[in-house]
Amino acid sequence: MENLTIVNHPLVQHKLSLMRRKQTPTGLFRQLLREISTLLAYEVTRDLPLALEAIETPVAAMRAPVLAGKKLCFVSILRAGNGILDGMLDLVPSARVGHIGLYRDPQTLAAVEYYYKVPEDVADRLVIAIDPMLATGNSAIAAVQRLKDGGGQSIKFVCLLAAPEGIAAFNAAHPDVAIFAAQCDERLNERGYIVPGIGDAGDRLYGTR
Ligand code: URA
Repeated sequence: MENLTIVNHPLVQHKLSLMRRKQTPTGLFRQLLREISTLLAYEVTRDLPLALEAIETPVAAMRAPVLAGKKLCFVSILRAGNGILDGMLDLVPSARVGHIGLYRDPQTLAAVEYYYKVPEDVADRLVIAIDPMLATGNSAIAAVQRLKDGGGQSIKFVCLLAAPEGIAAFNAAHPDVAIFAAQCDERLNERGYIVPGIGDAGDRLYGTR
């Protein structure tokens, strides 16, 4: 599929299988998502540009590679995005962080924004929007549109699980935004849940149901 990278690393796949089990308790679920997110962060940052900088080791002078491109900004789509955020910050602790809160209007089903706060210089950063589940794609599409309207120019999207329906809708709306996922599952069910999936990511992360 267009613009989709599945992170097929055995550690990611193993940890994802542990998360899928319905008997996995909240604390372990949260820890596993954090660990997988670090590995997803590794993949999504794979093409960051480097430049050579003159340094001195205790033994010799050398020109050593250091990050040289745009600085990073992670944007968590509330609330489940926060479960990915911690693992990404473990790998890139200096990244800036934004938050977007959206809810679905029960009448119109449109995504309605209730919170938006991102760094002022978001236009100059590589923005990585994060949400564990790309299901219908509605909230991810709306969140990325909001980031673009707010000046975001260079955006990637990271999720744990994607559904084919969500990927198609997202690609149609934002063909310029690459998607990174641990896995693409079979389909959505009639309630918009990913099958076989992991259930409700927010509830499983925070133990709210
Ligand atoms: N959101 C979730 O938390 N789980 C799904 O399966 C779909 C959307």
